[in-house]
Amino acid sequence: MMQAALIQQNIAIIHTQIQSAATRDQSCPVTLIAVSKKQPVAAVEAAYLAGQRDFGENYVQEGVEKIAALSKPDVVWHFIGHLQSNKSQAVAAYFSWVHSVDRIKIANTLDAARADTGLPPLQVCVQVNIDDGQHKAGVQADEVAALCQHITQLPHLKLRGLMAIPEPGNADALVAMQQLFLRLQPRFGLDVLSMGMSGDFEQAIACGATHVRVGTAVFGARQG
Ligand SMILES: *Cc1c(COP(=O)(O)O)cnc(C)c1O
Repeated sequence: MMQAALIQQNIAIIHTQIQSAATRDQSCPVTLIAVSKKQPVAAVEAAYLAGQRDFGENYVQEGVEKIAALSKPDVVWHFIGHLQSNKSQAVAAYFSWVHSVDRIKIANTLDAARADTGLPPLQVCVQVNIDDGQHKAGVQADEVAALCQHITQLPHLKLRGLMAIPEPGNADALVAMQQLFLRLQPRFGLDVLSMGMSGDFEQAIACGATHVRVGTAVFGARQG
C-alpha cells in the first residue's frame, strides 16, 4: 500500500479504537494529536487529507519548518517537546499549544514572547513528572498547583490542563494523573488531560485522557 493510504487507514483504525475506549460518561470527544516528529511533510499532508487537523512536534526547528512548508491555516500545532527559553519566541509565534510547561521561568518567557506576536493566548498544559520515568521532565505532583496558580496570572497564556509521559504500560501512573487532574480541575477550570501514546492511548482514555498524542501508530516508524 502507498504510504498515504496507509496513514489514512491508520487514522481510521485509531478513531475506532478511541471510540471504543471512551467511557459512556465522557461528554467531550477525545482529540487525536498526530505526532509528526521525524516524519516528512508529505506524511503530514497525507494525514491532513484524511481529515487530521491536530499535529504534535517535539523539536522547535523541525516543527517551524514543517509548519511553514505545510502552510494550512486550519491546522492546530501542538508543541509537546522539552522547551528551552531561547526557543520561546519561535514556539510562541508558530504553535497554538504547548503541552510541556514545566517551570515558572519558561511560563514567563512564553508569556512575554506570545505578547510580542499579538496572537490570542497560547493554550498550555503543565507537564507532570508522575512516575520519575526515563523522560524525567515535568514538575513533581506536589508542585503542580503552584505552577498552575502562577500561569493563571499570565495574560498571554491560557491554562488548559495537565500532560504526562508515563512509561508505556504504567497503569498506576495513568490513574495517578487522573486523580491529580480531578483534584485540580475545579480550582483551575481545567479541561485537558494530555496523556497516552501509540502503546497506551486506549488505557489512557479509560483513565480520562482528553487528548492522546499518537505518532508511530499513525505514521509508522520515525526517520532518523
Ligand atoms: C514521540 C512522542 C509521542 C508519540 O509517541 P509514539 O509512541 O510514537 O506514539 C507522544 N508524546 C510525546 C511527548 C512524544 O515525545
